[in-house]
Amino acid sequence: MLRVDNIRKQLITQRRELFREVAKTEEDLRWLQSDIESEVEERGQEETMVRLLDRLDGRAKAEIEAIDRALFKLGSGQYGRCERCGRAVPQSRLEAVPAAAMCMACEQAEENQAPLRK
Ligand SMILES: [Zn+2]
Repeated sequence: MLRVDNIRKQLITQRRELFREVAKTEEDLRWLQSDIESEVEERGQEETMVRLLDRLDGRAKAEIEAIDRALFKLGSGQYGRCERCGRAVPQSRLEAVPAAAMCMACEQAEENQAPLRK
């Protein structure tokens, strides 16, 4: 069984760490604090997030997108299923990379196909 609560916590922590690298003002830091458990809902919070996203490089942005997608899938019960082949992603992989969207074989296949640059 996957421990959804632990995975959610891990994902949220990872996301916060990524944003922390580019947080500069007090408002940014306050936003990071408030984002620990709750989803971004308020308008002001969203603006702060957009500003922080702007400062992140492509790699970090891609990571945050992957984390957000994983969090969404956790909420909708689709977490842990490979987005490409639909099979269950091995638990050991999810523990190592909680935001993984694909199983190892599919990720490698994607990488060999077309190197997507964001
Ligand atoms: Zn797969």
